[in-house]
Amino acid sequence: MSKFFALIPAAGSGSRMGNELPKQYLPLCKKPMIYHAIRTLCDHHSIAGVITVLAPGDEEWSRYDWSEFSGKLIVLKCGGATRADSVLNGLTVAQQKNLINTQDWILVHDAARPCLTSAQLNRLIDELTSDAVGGLLAVPVADTLKRSNSENRVKNTESRENLWQAQTPQMFRCDLLTRALQNATNINVTDDASAVEALGLHPKLVASDAYNFKVTYPQDLALAELILQNRNNS
Ligand code: C5P
Repeated sequence: MSKFFALIPAAGSGSRMGNELPKQYLPLCKKPMIYHAIRTLCDHHSIAGVITVLAPGDEEWSRYDWSEFSGKLIVLKCGGATRADSVLNGLTVAQQKNLINTQDWILVHDAARPCLTSAQLNRLIDELTSDAVGGLLAVPVADTLKRSNSENRVKNTESRENLWQAQTPQMFRCDLLTRALQNATNINVTDDASAVEALGLHPKLVASDAYNFKVTYPQDLALAELILQNRNNS
């Protein structure tokens, strides 16, 4: 029977945060940021294991105590040069070690989305378990979209009809995702779904909400902290 595994690529340097410490380890509610996604994923009853892909030279991970997740957490130090490389390396090593099977569902989630909820996971899994392709959490675009010229002046207003912002987790069967990422090595893919799209397939968009945003710039950390504190107090 197919199982569900989460895979967190966490081998990035997070340079856009302007910090020496890789983004996934920045402090958030007294924990490294990645802790929060790991906790939500490990706590979910449908998820059999959480594979975390670190950079081969990662020296930060072992500074923290991860023992509360020891039943489900699998750590692989096989990250690559890009996010897609890190996901593909993680899938390859996990299959070689017989940790996952080709028909298992893989939920790839960014370490930098710490506010993921179990309700969002439920929706993703419920909507995709019987799907032939798989899909991803996403939110319909709410803002008016402007395209600029090279001087940052508005060239035109884009229609936002049928436009979504992609989030993670992105959920695909292990064999399809592996094949898609192997095929995408010469294409610039910024998420897993775009690698699957490059095979001519159409991943399903599962409605999420803005709470599952990606921490990218320093001010995003304060917002994530507020959301998590608010949840812990309620
Ligand atoms: O930099 P960005 O926010 O797009 O990174 C998204 C996720 O991909 C992060 O969790 C980051 O650690 C991971 N990543 C990775 N290997 C890389 C680059 C990014 O695992 N080479």
